[in-house]
Amino acid sequence: MTQPVYKRILVKLSGEALMGSDAYGINRATIDRIVAQLAEVQRLGVELAVVIGGGNIFRGVALGAEGMDRATADYMGMLATVMNALALQDAMKRVGLVSRVQSALHVDQVAEPYIRGKALRYLEDGRVVIFAAGTGNPFFTTDTAAALRGMEMNVDVVLKATKVDGIYTADPVKNPEAKRYESLTFEEAIVNNLQVMDATALTLCRDQNMPLCVFSIFKEGALKRVVMGEPEGTFVRN
Ligand code: UDP
Repeated sequence: MTQPVYKRILVKLSGEALMGSDAYGINRATIDRIVAQLAEVQRLGVELAVVIGGGNIFRGVALGAEGMDRATADYMGMLATVMNALALQDAMKRVGLVSRVQSALHVDQVAEPYIRGKALRYLEDGRVVIFAAGTGNPFFTTDTAAALRGMEMNVDVVLKATKVDGIYTADPVKNPEAKRYESLTFEEAIVNNLQVMDATALTLCRDQNMPLCVFSIFKEGALKRVVMGEPEGTFVRN
């Protein structure tokens, strides 16, 4: 039987992925669908870390633009990711997936603080680790947190889950001629300003030689195909 090509992965889930077709918040059926995909790869023996976003609830940059103090808005954004992390943990529990939430902000009654050694041990023990509150610092994003935690957890690859099954030459929704890249370099992604991840996350991955794969969490079996080394999504490498 073919084996997964990765031993340990980090999946970055945006908050928006949890909304489904709703305008705000968490859609129960959607979160269950996402968890089913995650459970499938975890059951193949792949160690799984997740960084969860908060864009379905609050985005600091949007509130900042409306005149709110940006750092305050960003802390609210980070707290939103804690809510999503708890929802994700709950959905995982329903399918028997054991997980631990570690938060970069102290919210001790609901989540453990981020402790690298402990997180590594959980992964080795086959538990899913959900990282909440991004980097713990305003002016950053959960994409950057994904790059950072991915490196700290020594994962083999950071997998960015999106609604689209990779990076395209143009918006595939608006342009039927748009073609999916099979792979790209970080330099190409940065220079061409391809909306893969923010520049901080991309340069971090580039400098630490952390491969990145963009795939669709809504395409049945896509995450498993990536993990099995089958053609899927777009890879970004040096
Ligand atoms: N955020 C932050 N620092 C971090 C990560 C996140 O300040 O290290 C805040 C920021 O306001 C951001 C919000 O949390 O807009 C939600 O995160 P993000 O936008 O990355 O979520 P996603 O787009 O993945 O849903």
